Amino acid sequence: MPIAAATLARLKAVVGTRGAIDDPAAIAPYLEEQRGLFRGTTPLVLRPSSTAEVAAIVAICAETRTGIVPQGGNTGMVGGTVLAADGSQVIVNVSRMNRIRALDPANNTIAVEAGCVLADIQAAAAAAGRLFPLSLAAEGSCQIGGNLSTNAGGTNVLRYGNARSFVLGLEVVLPDGRIWDGLRGLRKDNTGYDLKQLFIGAEGTLGIITAAVLKLFPQPTDVATAMIAAPDPAAALALLGTVQAASSDQVTAWEFMPRYGIDLTLKNVPGNADPFADRHPWYVLAEVAGAAARGALEASLERGLAAGQVRDAVIAASDTQAAALWRMRETMPEAQKREGAGIRHDIAVPVSRVPDFIAAADRRIDAARPGTLVIAYGHLGDGNVHYNLSPAAQAEAAAFLAARPALTRIVHDAAVEFGGTISAEHGLGLLKRDENRRYKPEVELALMRTIKAALDPAGIMNPGKML
Ligand SMILES: Cc1cc2nc3c(=O)[nH]c(=O)nc-3n(C[C@H](O)[C@H](O)[C@H](O)COP(=O)(O)OP(=O)(O)OC[C@H]3O[C@@H](n4cnc5c(N)ncnc54)[C@H](O)[C@@H]3O)c2cc1C
Repeated sequence: MPIAAATLARLKAVVGTRGAIDDPAAIAPYLEEQRGLFRGTTPLVLRPSSTAEVAAIVAICAETRTGIVPQGGNTGMVGGTVLAADGSQVIVNVSRMNRIRALDPANNTIAVEAGCVLADIQAAAAAAGRLFPLSLAAEGSCQIGGNLSTNAGGTNVLRYGNARSFVLGLEVVLPDGRIWDGLRGLRKDNTGYDLKQLFIGAEGTLGIITAAVLKLFPQPTDVATAMIAAPDPAAALALLGTVQAASSDQVTAWEFMPRYGIDLTLKNVPGNADPFADRHPWYVLAEVAGAAARGALEASLERGLAAGQVRDAVIAASDTQAAALWRMRETMPEAQKREGAGIRHDIAVPVSRVPDFIAAADRRIDAARPGTLVIAYGHLGDGNVHYNLSPAAQAEAAAFLAARPALTRIVHDAAVEFGGTISAEHGLGLLKRDENRRYKPEVELALMRTIKAALDPAGIMNPGKML
Protein backbone atom coordinates (compact mmCIF):
# COMPACT_ATOMS: atom_id res chain seq x y z
CA MET A 1 0.00 0.00 0.00
CA PRO A 2 1.35 3.47 -0.83
CA ILE A 3 1.86 5.73 2.17
CA ALA A 4 -1.04 8.14 2.76
CA ALA A 5 -0.35 11.77 1.87
CA ALA A 6 -1.34 12.80 5.40
CA THR A 7 1.26 10.44 6.90
CA LEU A 8 3.97 11.78 4.60
CA ALA A 9 3.06 15.33 5.61
CA ARG A 10 3.29 14.46 9.32
CA LEU A 11 6.68 12.81 8.84
CA LYS A 12 8.02 15.80 6.92
CA ALA A 13 6.81 18.14 9.62
CA VAL A 14 8.96 16.30 12.20
CA VAL A 15 12.23 16.96 10.40
CA GLY A 16 11.46 20.20 8.53
CA THR A 17 12.60 21.00 5.01
CA ARG A 18 16.30 20.32 5.71
CA GLY A 19 15.54 16.81 6.85
CA ALA A 20 13.09 15.60 4.21
CA ILE A 21 13.84 14.57 0.62
CA ASP A 22 10.89 13.85 -1.66
CA ASP A 23 12.29 14.78 -5.07
CA PRO A 24 12.81 11.49 -6.99
CA ALA A 25 16.14 12.67 -8.47
CA ALA A 26 17.49 13.55 -5.01
CA ILE A 27 16.15 10.27 -3.57
CA ALA A 28 17.87 8.14 -6.26
CA PRO A 29 21.33 7.93 -4.59
CA TYR A 30 19.73 6.61 -1.39
CA LEU A 31 18.26 3.71 -3.39
CA GLU A 32 21.59 2.55 -4.75
CA GLU A 33 23.00 -0.67 -3.45
CA GLN A 34 26.62 -1.87 -3.43
CA ARG A 35 26.11 -5.03 -5.43
CA GLY A 36 23.59 -3.61 -7.88
CA LEU A 37 21.35 -6.62 -7.35
CA PHE A 38 18.26 -4.97 -5.89
CA ARG A 39 16.32 -1.76 -6.37
CA GLY A 40 13.27 -0.53 -4.48
CA THR A 41 11.56 2.82 -4.24
CA THR A 42 10.26 5.32 -1.68
CA PRO A 43 8.38 8.61 -1.74
CA LEU A 44 10.40 9.97 1.21
CA VAL A 45 13.88 9.98 2.72
CA LEU A 46 13.97 11.35 6.28
CA ARG A 47 17.20 12.77 7.68
CA PRO A 48 16.54 13.49 11.36
CA SER A 49 18.97 15.63 13.33
CA SER A 50 18.26 14.31 16.83
CA THR A 51 17.14 11.27 18.79
CA ALA A 52 13.88 13.08 19.60
CA GLU A 53 13.17 13.47 15.89
CA VAL A 54 13.90 9.79 15.25
CA ALA A 55 11.51 8.87 18.07
CA ALA A 56 8.77 11.12 16.67
CA ILE A 57 9.20 9.57 13.20
CA VAL A 58 9.05 6.03 14.54
CA ALA A 59 5.97 6.82 16.65
CA ILE A 60 4.12 8.03 13.55
CA CYS A 61 5.25 5.00 11.54
CA ALA A 62 4.14 2.66 14.36
CA GLU A 63 0.72 4.30 14.48
CA THR A 64 0.27 4.18 10.68
CA ARG A 65 2.02 0.80 10.17
CA THR A 66 4.54 2.41 7.84
CA GLY A 67 7.69 0.41 7.13
CA ILE A 68 11.04 2.00 8.04
CA VAL A 69 14.40 1.21 6.45
CA PRO A 70 17.20 2.58 8.64
CA GLN A 71 20.24 3.77 6.71
CA GLY A 72 23.75 5.00 7.52
CA GLY A 73 26.50 5.25 4.92
CA ASN A 74 24.74 2.73 2.63
CA THR A 75 27.93 0.71 2.13
CA GLY A 76 26.41 -2.58 3.31
CA MET A 77 26.97 -5.61 1.10
CA VAL A 78 23.76 -7.62 1.55
CA GLY A 79 20.95 -5.31 0.48
CA GLY A 80 20.05 -4.35 4.06
CA THR A 81 18.94 -0.86 3.04
CA VAL A 82 16.90 -1.89 0.01
CA LEU A 83 13.27 -0.70 -0.03
CA ALA A 84 10.15 -2.53 -1.11
CA ALA A 85 9.21 -2.00 -4.75
CA ASP A 86 5.73 -0.66 -3.92
CA GLY A 87 6.81 2.58 -2.25
CA SER A 88 5.29 1.56 1.09
CA GLN A 89 8.40 2.28 3.19
CA VAL A 90 10.45 5.34 4.16
CA ILE A 91 14.19 5.64 4.65
CA VAL A 92 15.42 7.00 7.97
CA ASN A 93 18.98 8.07 7.24
CA VAL A 94 20.91 9.09 10.37
CA SER A 95 23.85 10.85 8.62
CA ARG A 96 23.00 14.24 10.14
CA MET A 97 23.35 12.81 13.65
CA ASN A 98 27.12 12.95 13.53
CA ARG A 99 28.20 14.58 16.78
CA ILE A 100 30.84 13.19 19.06
CA ARG A 101 29.05 13.66 22.35
CA ALA A 102 31.91 13.00 24.77
CA LEU A 103 35.38 11.49 25.03
CA ASP A 104 36.52 10.25 28.43
CA PRO A 105 40.26 9.42 28.24
CA ALA A 106 40.41 8.10 31.79
CA ASN A 107 37.51 5.73 31.15
CA ASN A 108 38.87 5.02 27.64
CA THR A 109 35.46 5.65 26.06
CA ILE A 110 33.92 7.80 23.38
CA ALA A 111 30.19 8.58 23.10
CA VAL A 112 29.13 9.10 19.50
CA GLU A 113 25.95 9.59 17.51
CA ALA A 114 24.96 6.91 15.02
CA GLY A 115 25.73 9.01 11.93
CA CYS A 116 29.40 9.54 12.80
CA VAL A 117 31.59 8.33 9.94
CA LEU A 118 33.91 5.57 11.18
CA ALA A 119 37.08 7.40 10.06
CA ASP A 120 35.99 10.49 12.04
CA ILE A 121 35.69 8.39 15.21
CA GLN A 122 39.15 6.92 14.60
CA ALA A 123 40.51 10.48 14.11
CA ALA A 124 38.84 11.80 17.29
CA ALA A 125 40.30 8.90 19.27
CA ALA A 126 43.77 9.48 17.77
CA ALA A 127 43.60 13.20 18.61
CA ALA A 128 43.15 12.17 22.25
CA GLY A 129 46.05 9.71 22.03
CA ARG A 130 43.75 6.70 21.86
CA LEU A 131 42.95 4.00 19.33
CA PHE A 132 39.50 3.03 18.05
CA PRO A 133 40.46 -0.21 16.30
CA LEU A 134 37.45 -0.92 14.08
CA SER A 135 38.86 -0.56 10.57
CA LEU A 136 37.54 -1.49 7.13
CA ALA A 137 37.98 -0.32 3.57
CA ALA A 138 34.68 1.60 3.63
CA GLU A 139 35.67 3.56 6.77
CA GLY A 140 35.61 6.91 4.96
CA SER A 141 31.88 6.58 4.30
CA CYS A 142 30.31 3.91 6.54
CA GLN A 143 28.83 5.12 9.82
CA ILE A 144 28.97 3.71 13.31
CA GLY A 145 25.22 3.02 13.44
CA GLY A 146 25.63 0.85 10.34
CA ASN A 147 28.83 -0.73 11.68
CA LEU A 148 27.08 -1.76 14.87
CA SER A 149 23.88 -2.84 13.11
CA THR A 150 25.89 -5.17 10.86
CA ASN A 151 28.33 -6.11 13.63
CA ALA A 152 31.10 -5.18 11.19
CA GLY A 153 34.41 -7.03 11.23
CA GLY A 154 37.25 -5.58 9.19
CA THR A 155 40.98 -5.99 9.50
CA ASN A 156 41.63 -5.83 13.26
CA VAL A 157 39.25 -8.51 14.53
CA LEU A 158 42.14 -10.88 15.20
CA ARG A 159 43.41 -8.70 18.05
CA TYR A 160 40.48 -6.49 19.09
CA GLY A 161 37.30 -8.35 18.08
CA ASN A 162 34.42 -7.23 15.86
CA ALA A 163 32.11 -4.23 16.31
CA ARG A 164 30.15 -6.04 19.00
CA SER A 165 33.15 -6.14 21.29
CA PHE A 166 33.66 -2.35 21.33
CA VAL A 167 30.23 -1.38 22.65
CA LEU A 168 29.65 -0.48 26.29
CA GLY A 169 26.34 1.31 25.86
CA LEU A 170 23.65 2.11 23.30
CA GLU A 171 20.82 4.54 22.78
CA VAL A 172 18.05 3.04 20.64
CA VAL A 173 14.67 4.19 19.38
CA LEU A 174 12.41 1.16 19.76
CA PRO A 175 9.79 0.17 17.17
CA ASP A 176 6.99 1.80 19.21
CA GLY A 177 8.83 5.14 19.35
CA ARG A 178 10.15 4.86 22.91
CA ILE A 179 13.78 5.81 23.52
CA TRP A 180 15.95 3.31 25.39
CA ASP A 181 18.81 5.24 26.97
CA GLY A 182 21.40 2.55 27.65
CA LEU A 183 24.38 4.87 27.16
CA ARG A 184 26.47 3.49 30.00
CA GLY A 185 30.24 3.45 30.00
CA LEU A 186 30.53 0.42 32.24
CA ARG A 187 32.89 -2.47 31.72
CA LYS A 188 30.98 -4.47 34.27
CA ASP A 189 27.18 -4.54 34.65
CA ASN A 190 25.54 -7.80 35.65
CA THR A 191 21.99 -6.56 36.12
CA GLY A 192 20.15 -8.80 33.70
CA TYR A 193 20.07 -9.53 29.98
CA ASP A 194 22.70 -7.71 27.95
CA LEU A 195 20.10 -5.83 25.88
CA LYS A 196 22.55 -3.82 23.79
CA GLN A 197 23.81 -7.02 22.17
CA LEU A 198 20.32 -7.63 20.77
CA PHE A 199 20.51 -4.50 18.63
CA ILE A 200 24.10 -5.07 17.49
CA GLY A 201 24.02 -7.15 14.32
CA ALA A 202 20.21 -6.79 14.13
CA GLU A 203 20.48 -4.94 10.78
CA GLY A 204 17.86 -2.41 11.80
CA THR A 205 15.15 -5.03 12.37
CA LEU A 206 14.67 -4.29 16.10
CA GLY A 207 15.06 -0.52 16.35
CA ILE A 208 17.16 2.45 15.25
CA ILE A 209 20.50 2.90 17.01
CA THR A 210 20.94 6.62 17.64
CA ALA A 211 24.11 6.72 19.77
CA ALA A 212 26.74 4.48 21.36
CA VAL A 213 29.45 4.48 24.00
CA LEU A 214 32.50 2.76 22.52
CA LYS A 215 35.69 1.41 24.06
CA LEU A 216 39.01 3.03 23.24
CA PHE A 217 42.48 1.51 23.55
CA PRO A 218 46.03 2.79 23.99
CA GLN A 219 47.78 3.75 20.74
CA PRO A 220 50.38 1.07 19.91
CA THR A 221 53.92 2.41 20.28
CA ASP A 222 55.40 0.45 17.37
CA VAL A 223 53.62 -0.84 14.26
CA ALA A 224 55.29 -3.18 11.76
CA THR A 225 53.63 -3.90 8.41
CA ALA A 226 54.81 -6.54 5.97
CA MET A 227 53.81 -8.23 2.74
CA ILE A 228 54.77 -11.88 2.87
CA ALA A 229 54.83 -14.31 -0.05
CA ALA A 230 53.78 -17.82 1.01
CA PRO A 231 53.48 -21.14 -0.80
CA ASP A 232 49.95 -21.91 0.41
CA PRO A 233 47.33 -20.95 3.03
CA ALA A 234 48.50 -23.71 5.41
CA ALA A 235 52.01 -22.19 5.49
CA ALA A 236 50.53 -18.71 5.98
CA LEU A 237 48.56 -20.00 8.97
CA ALA A 238 51.52 -21.80 10.50
CA LEU A 239 53.49 -18.56 10.23
CA LEU A 240 50.68 -16.68 11.99
CA GLY A 241 51.13 -18.96 14.99
CA THR A 242 54.86 -18.25 14.99
CA VAL A 243 54.37 -14.45 14.86
CA GLN A 244 51.68 -14.52 17.54
CA ALA A 245 53.95 -16.45 19.87
CA ALA A 246 57.01 -14.28 19.15
CA SER A 247 55.11 -10.99 19.61
CA SER A 248 53.13 -11.94 22.73
CA ASP A 249 49.91 -11.97 20.67
CA GLN A 250 50.36 -8.53 19.12
CA VAL A 251 49.30 -9.48 15.57
CA THR A 252 46.55 -7.04 14.58
CA ALA A 253 46.03 -8.11 10.95
CA TRP A 254 46.71 -11.27 8.98
CA GLU A 255 45.08 -10.75 5.60
CA PHE A 256 45.63 -13.12 2.71
CA MET A 257 45.36 -12.79 -1.06
CA PRO A 258 45.94 -15.16 -3.97
CA ARG A 259 48.12 -14.30 -6.95
CA TYR A 260 45.10 -13.80 -9.22
CA GLY A 261 43.78 -11.17 -6.79
CA ILE A 262 47.15 -9.40 -6.87
CA ASP A 263 47.05 -9.50 -10.68
CA LEU A 264 43.65 -7.78 -10.63
CA THR A 265 44.73 -5.03 -8.22
CA LEU A 266 47.78 -4.33 -10.40
CA LYS A 267 45.75 -4.32 -13.60
CA ASN A 268 42.62 -2.46 -12.47
CA VAL A 269 43.73 -0.04 -9.73
CA PRO A 270 46.21 2.63 -10.84
CA GLY A 271 49.03 3.27 -8.39
CA ASN A 272 49.39 -0.27 -7.04
CA ALA A 273 52.80 -1.89 -7.46
CA ASP A 274 53.98 -5.45 -6.90
CA PRO A 275 56.44 -5.36 -3.98
CA PHE A 276 58.21 -8.51 -5.27
CA ALA A 277 60.17 -9.24 -8.42
CA ASP A 278 58.81 -12.80 -8.67
CA ARG A 279 55.27 -14.15 -8.76
CA HIS A 280 54.09 -16.21 -5.79
CA PRO A 281 50.94 -18.27 -5.19
CA TRP A 282 49.78 -16.53 -1.99
CA TYR A 283 50.43 -13.28 -0.13
CA VAL A 284 49.84 -12.17 3.46
CA LEU A 285 49.47 -8.57 4.52
CA ALA A 286 50.61 -8.70 8.14
CA GLU A 287 50.50 -6.07 10.83
CA VAL A 288 51.99 -6.40 14.30
CA ALA A 289 51.40 -3.56 16.76
CA GLY A 290 53.00 -3.07 20.15
CA ALA A 291 56.38 -2.72 21.79
CA ALA A 292 59.12 -4.46 19.77
CA ALA A 293 56.68 -5.42 17.01
CA ARG A 294 59.25 -5.10 14.24
CA GLY A 295 61.84 -7.29 15.97
CA ALA A 296 59.27 -10.01 16.61
CA LEU A 297 58.13 -9.92 12.98
CA GLU A 298 61.68 -10.03 11.59
CA ALA A 299 62.68 -12.96 13.79
CA SER A 300 59.50 -14.87 12.84
CA LEU A 301 60.04 -14.27 9.13
CA GLU A 302 63.56 -15.65 9.37
CA ARG A 303 62.21 -18.74 11.07
CA GLY A 304 59.45 -18.97 8.45
CA LEU A 305 62.00 -18.78 5.61
CA ALA A 306 63.97 -21.64 7.13
CA ALA A 307 60.78 -23.69 7.59
CA GLY A 308 59.61 -23.12 4.00
CA GLN A 309 56.57 -21.11 5.13
CA VAL A 310 57.91 -17.90 3.60
CA ARG A 311 59.12 -17.43 0.03
CA ASP A 312 59.87 -13.74 0.28
CA ALA A 313 58.89 -10.78 2.45
CA VAL A 314 59.09 -6.99 2.62
CA ILE A 315 58.70 -5.04 5.83
CA ALA A 316 57.54 -1.45 5.28
CA ALA A 317 60.27 1.06 6.10
CA SER A 318 57.88 4.02 6.40
CA ASP A 319 54.20 4.86 6.89
CA THR A 320 53.98 5.58 3.15
CA GLN A 321 55.27 2.12 2.29
CA ALA A 322 52.91 0.55 4.81
CA ALA A 323 49.99 2.46 3.25
CA ALA A 324 51.02 1.22 -0.23
CA LEU A 325 50.98 -2.39 0.99
CA TRP A 326 47.62 -1.93 2.67
CA ARG A 327 46.26 -0.41 -0.55
CA MET A 328 46.91 -3.68 -2.39
CA ARG A 329 44.65 -5.46 0.07
CA GLU A 330 42.00 -2.79 0.44
CA THR A 331 41.49 -2.26 -3.28
CA MET A 332 40.93 -5.95 -3.94
CA PRO A 333 37.08 -5.72 -3.92
CA GLU A 334 37.23 -2.71 -6.25
CA ALA A 335 39.73 -4.48 -8.54
CA GLN A 336 37.40 -7.45 -8.93
CA LYS A 337 34.40 -5.17 -9.51
CA ARG A 338 36.26 -3.33 -12.29
CA GLU A 339 37.19 -6.60 -13.96
CA GLY A 340 33.51 -7.26 -14.66
CA ALA A 341 31.14 -10.02 -13.58
CA GLY A 342 31.87 -11.59 -10.23
CA ILE A 343 30.15 -13.65 -7.55
CA ARG A 344 31.11 -12.81 -3.97
CA HIS A 345 30.90 -14.73 -0.73
CA ASP A 346 31.66 -13.94 2.90
CA ILE A 347 32.11 -17.27 4.62
CA ALA A 348 33.97 -18.18 7.80
CA VAL A 349 35.24 -21.52 9.06
CA PRO A 350 37.39 -22.31 12.09
CA VAL A 351 40.81 -20.80 11.37
CA SER A 352 42.49 -24.21 11.31
CA ARG A 353 40.11 -25.43 8.57
CA VAL A 354 40.63 -22.61 6.07
CA PRO A 355 43.19 -24.51 3.93
CA ASP A 356 40.96 -27.60 3.66
CA PHE A 357 37.88 -25.49 2.94
CA ILE A 358 39.67 -23.68 0.10
CA ALA A 359 41.01 -26.92 -1.39
CA ALA A 360 37.57 -28.57 -1.28
CA ALA A 361 35.70 -25.54 -2.61
CA ASP A 362 38.25 -25.06 -5.43
CA ARG A 363 37.82 -28.69 -6.50
CA ARG A 364 34.03 -28.55 -6.45
CA ILE A 365 33.77 -25.20 -8.24
CA ASP A 366 36.12 -26.38 -10.97
CA ALA A 367 34.12 -29.57 -11.41
CA ALA A 368 30.86 -27.60 -11.68
CA ARG A 369 32.19 -24.90 -14.02
CA PRO A 370 35.68 -25.64 -15.30
CA GLY A 371 38.02 -22.68 -15.60
CA THR A 372 36.17 -20.48 -13.09
CA LEU A 373 38.67 -18.11 -11.48
CA VAL A 374 38.75 -18.03 -7.68
CA ILE A 375 39.84 -15.03 -5.61
CA ALA A 376 39.83 -16.40 -2.08
CA TYR A 377 41.06 -13.50 0.03
CA GLY A 378 40.37 -11.75 3.29
CA HIS A 379 40.77 -12.13 7.00
CA LEU A 380 42.76 -15.37 7.27
CA GLY A 381 43.50 -14.80 10.95
CA ASP A 382 39.73 -14.80 11.64
CA GLY A 383 38.92 -17.76 9.37
CA ASN A 384 36.91 -15.29 7.22
CA VAL A 385 37.33 -15.92 3.50
CA HIS A 386 35.80 -13.78 0.77
CA TYR A 387 35.63 -16.74 -1.57
CA ASN A 388 34.88 -14.81 -4.75
CA LEU A 389 34.51 -16.11 -8.28
CA SER A 390 35.06 -14.64 -11.73
CA PRO A 391 34.27 -16.19 -15.11
CA ALA A 392 37.09 -17.83 -17.07
CA ALA A 393 36.53 -15.03 -19.61
CA GLN A 394 34.31 -11.97 -19.25
CA ALA A 395 32.76 -12.86 -22.63
CA GLU A 396 30.89 -15.64 -20.86
CA ALA A 397 29.71 -13.36 -18.03
CA ALA A 398 25.99 -13.90 -18.67
CA ALA A 399 26.22 -17.70 -18.47
CA PHE A 400 28.49 -17.42 -15.44
CA LEU A 401 26.06 -15.16 -13.58
CA ALA A 402 23.18 -17.46 -14.51
CA ALA A 403 25.06 -20.20 -12.67
CA ARG A 404 25.23 -18.05 -9.50
CA PRO A 405 22.70 -20.07 -7.44
CA ALA A 406 24.49 -23.36 -8.13
CA LEU A 407 27.98 -21.94 -7.52
CA THR A 408 26.93 -20.16 -4.33
CA ARG A 409 25.29 -23.35 -3.10
CA ILE A 410 28.61 -25.18 -3.52
CA VAL A 411 30.51 -22.53 -1.57
CA HIS A 412 27.95 -22.27 1.24
CA ASP A 413 27.53 -26.04 1.55
CA ALA A 414 31.31 -26.40 1.82
CA ALA A 415 31.55 -23.65 4.46
CA VAL A 416 28.88 -25.28 6.61
CA GLU A 417 30.39 -28.74 6.06
CA PHE A 418 33.68 -27.41 7.45
CA GLY A 419 31.95 -26.09 10.56
CA GLY A 420 31.43 -22.57 9.24
CA THR A 421 28.90 -19.88 8.40
CA ILE A 422 27.53 -18.34 5.19
CA SER A 423 27.94 -14.79 6.52
CA ALA A 424 30.98 -13.88 8.60
CA GLU A 425 30.78 -10.09 8.70
CA HIS A 426 28.35 -8.69 6.13
CA GLY A 427 25.09 -9.91 7.67
CA LEU A 428 22.03 -11.36 5.98
CA GLY A 429 19.97 -8.39 4.72
CA LEU A 430 17.92 -9.35 1.72
CA LEU A 431 20.71 -11.19 -0.09
CA LYS A 432 21.18 -14.07 2.36
CA ARG A 433 17.86 -14.07 4.20
CA ASP A 434 16.46 -17.15 2.49
CA GLU A 435 19.83 -18.86 2.25
CA ASN A 436 20.17 -18.56 6.03
CA ARG A 437 16.93 -20.51 6.49
CA ARG A 438 18.57 -23.42 4.71
CA TYR A 439 21.47 -23.66 7.16
CA LYS A 440 20.36 -22.26 10.54
CA PRO A 441 18.84 -24.74 12.98
CA GLU A 442 15.07 -24.33 13.37
CA VAL A 443 15.41 -23.64 17.12
CA GLU A 444 17.69 -20.65 16.41
CA LEU A 445 15.33 -19.31 13.74
CA ALA A 446 12.39 -19.68 16.13
CA LEU A 447 14.24 -17.77 18.87
CA MET A 448 15.05 -14.99 16.41
CA ARG A 449 11.39 -14.78 15.34
CA THR A 450 10.30 -14.65 19.00
CA ILE A 451 12.64 -11.72 19.68
CA LYS A 452 11.46 -9.90 16.55
CA ALA A 453 7.79 -10.40 17.45
CA ALA A 454 8.36 -9.22 21.04
CA LEU A 455 10.09 -5.98 20.06
CA ASP A 456 8.42 -5.21 16.74
CA PRO A 457 5.01 -6.92 16.70
CA ALA A 458 3.78 -4.76 13.79
CA GLY A 459 6.87 -5.61 11.75
CA ILE A 460 7.68 -2.02 10.74
CA MET A 461 11.45 -2.11 11.33
CA ASN A 462 13.37 -2.94 8.15
CA PRO A 463 10.63 -5.30 6.92
CA GLY A 464 11.71 -8.38 5.02
CA LYS A 465 15.36 -8.23 6.05
CA MET A 466 17.19 -10.99 7.91
CA LEU A 467 14.06 -13.00 8.83
C1 LIG B 1 34.81 -1.32 -0.05
C2 LIG B 1 34.04 -1.95 1.08
C3 LIG B 1 34.73 -2.69 2.02
C4 LIG B 1 34.06 -3.29 3.09
N1 LIG B 1 34.77 -4.00 3.99
C5 LIG B 1 34.13 -4.55 5.03
C6 LIG B 1 34.86 -5.28 6.01
O1 LIG B 1 36.07 -5.47 5.93
N2 LIG B 1 34.18 -5.79 7.06
C7 LIG B 1 32.82 -5.61 7.20
O2 LIG B 1 32.25 -6.09 8.18
N3 LIG B 1 32.11 -4.95 6.27
C8 LIG B 1 32.72 -4.42 5.21
N4 LIG B 1 32.00 -3.74 4.27
C9 LIG B 1 30.54 -3.63 4.40
C10 LIG B 1 30.06 -2.31 5.06
O3 LIG B 1 31.00 -1.31 4.97
C11 LIG B 1 29.74 -2.53 6.50
O4 LIG B 1 28.68 -3.42 6.57
C12 LIG B 1 29.36 -1.25 7.28
O5 LIG B 1 29.44 -1.61 8.64
C13 LIG B 1 27.99 -0.72 6.99
O6 LIG B 1 27.87 0.62 7.52
P1 LIG B 1 26.92 1.67 6.80
O7 LIG B 1 26.87 2.90 7.64
O8 LIG B 1 27.28 1.86 5.40
O9 LIG B 1 25.51 0.90 6.92
P2 LIG B 1 24.35 0.80 5.84
O10 LIG B 1 24.82 0.13 4.61
O11 LIG B 1 23.69 2.11 5.67
O12 LIG B 1 23.35 -0.18 6.62
C14 LIG B 1 23.71 -1.51 6.89
C15 LIG B 1 22.58 -2.18 7.70
O13 LIG B 1 22.46 -1.57 8.97
C16 LIG B 1 21.18 -0.97 9.14
N5 LIG B 1 21.42 0.33 9.80
C17 LIG B 1 22.23 1.33 9.38
N6 LIG B 1 22.25 2.31 10.30
C18 LIG B 1 21.45 1.91 11.33
C19 LIG B 1 21.07 2.48 12.57
N7 LIG B 1 21.53 3.66 12.97
N8 LIG B 1 20.23 1.79 13.36
C20 LIG B 1 19.76 0.57 12.99
N9 LIG B 1 20.07 -0.01 11.81
C21 LIG B 1 20.91 0.65 11.00
C22 LIG B 1 20.60 -0.86 7.75
O14 LIG B 1 19.19 -0.91 7.77
C23 LIG B 1 21.21 -2.06 7.05
O15 LIG B 1 20.47 -3.21 7.37
C24 LIG B 1 32.65 -3.14 3.19
C25 LIG B 1 31.96 -2.38 2.24
C26 LIG B 1 32.64 -1.79 1.20
C27 LIG B 1 31.86 -0.98 0.21
